[in-house]
Amino acid sequence: MLNKIPVGHKSIDDYSSIIGFDYIQSLKQKASKINKLKILHLSSTAYGGGVSEMLYTLVPLMKSIGLDVSWQVITGDEEFFITTKNLHNGLQGADFIITDYMVKAYKRRSKENAKLLDTDADVIICHDPQTAAIPYFCDKLDKYKKTAWIWRCHIDLTCPHSSAVDLIKDYVNQFDGTVFSSPNYIKPELKTDNHYIVYPAIDPLSPKNMDISSHTINELLSKVGIKTDKPVLTQVSRFDPWKDPLGVIDVYREVKKDIDLQLLMVASMASDDPEGWHYFEKTARHAGNDLDIHLLSNVYGVGNLEVNAIQKISDVVIQKSVREGFGLVVSEALWKGKPVVGTNVGGIAVQIVDGDNGFLIENTTEAVQKILWLLSHKQQAIKMGKKGKQYVKQNFISPRNLMDIIDVIIDIAA
Ligand code: UDP
Repeated sequence: MLNKIPVGHKSIDDYSSIIGFDYIQSLKQKASKINKLKILHLSSTAYGGGVSEMLYTLVPLMKSIGLDVSWQVITGDEEFFITTKNLHNGLQGADFIITDYMVKAYKRRSKENAKLLDTDADVIICHDPQTAAIPYFCDKLDKYKKTAWIWRCHIDLTCPHSSAVDLIKDYVNQFDGTVFSSPNYIKPELKTDNHYIVYPAIDPLSPKNMDISSHTINELLSKVGIKTDKPVLTQVSRFDPWKDPLGVIDVYREVKKDIDLQLLMVASMASDDPEGWHYFEKTARHAGNDLDIHLLSNVYGVGNLEVNAIQKISDVVIQKSVREGFGLVVSEALWKGKPVVGTNVGGIAVQIVDGDNGFLIENTTEAVQKILWLLSHKQQAIKMGKKGKQYVKQNFISPRNLMDIIDVIIDIAA
């Protein structure tokens, strides 16, 4: 058996002040078309990163509108996760190495997971490349032939390495439907006849995004040793080359030449990300002895509420990713009324309306200019932050994600 992930209770009715009664009614109505189906989400980790963040809200919200849904996590060892991380890198367009040995490890573990899968689900939504080969191996094992299989890919497929695509395309073709986070990610080899765009979303009521009082913020900050005596620039992201933490430090150093500020870098360690610690050390070395650079992590007590508080007290949030499937952190910051300076890539470009709720930048120099401008134009920065919150409310909150996923399931399986 694979591990079943317990999720807390959430009620869709609690969201009515944000999305309105009619939207909730229409969610419930649509859900009634598929409430006889059993639905399973299959992912590779229950902690760290955007997929688990989203599922902790999506799964209970699906339940709350009457759907029969659960979430299981596949098994994997270091060999498997190193292989899938390399595959992820190749799909995002980096040079990557996957040896024959690694391919065998991927197949072996996928087959093992297919054997362990024990479900009566009518619809299985597999997240990301880690789970992409499971329907293929289930088919070989003569299992779940009547199941509707959906692949939801969360990574940036703007310019994938063709050999990475070759490695999974036959597996992806086994699915009944594919879901991507941006129209730019649809590649002929990696889609099925039924393919959809669903933007990921944040939960406005979760501990990470809910309103918290200034008193609580102060308590949380003092617990993790953060003061607000200098302007705050923040990036919340795993320590990972794709998130360019070293580049963030370079930007901060340039800004500091004109305005004395501090940099908060918050990074959780994901269990399916073997590179995390290695990159943490690299980032720490690059930061050197600068006492205004704070490297914070879940391992040192920076959990959801602390991330919330840190985003709330930030003056500017930066997201300097080289590629970004979506980047929930951008919506999280915008939701807190913070202008975001982000690279013009993948999902960041979907969320930032340049010059309106933040700035899209191409390089370090532009990032420095925009951050300096925001730090020295407080009123304009506040206005942009307000627009950002509105934009997220309209486009990137969890009830909308729920609506889109229900539409996909209705289309494929009802
Ligand atoms: N996150 C967190 N603590 C951290 C770093 C990240 O809780 O120290 C969360 C972050 O708030 C966001 C998710 O992890 O909800 C990251 O999702 P995103 O889509 O931005 O990036 P991914 O890690 O999936 O590439």
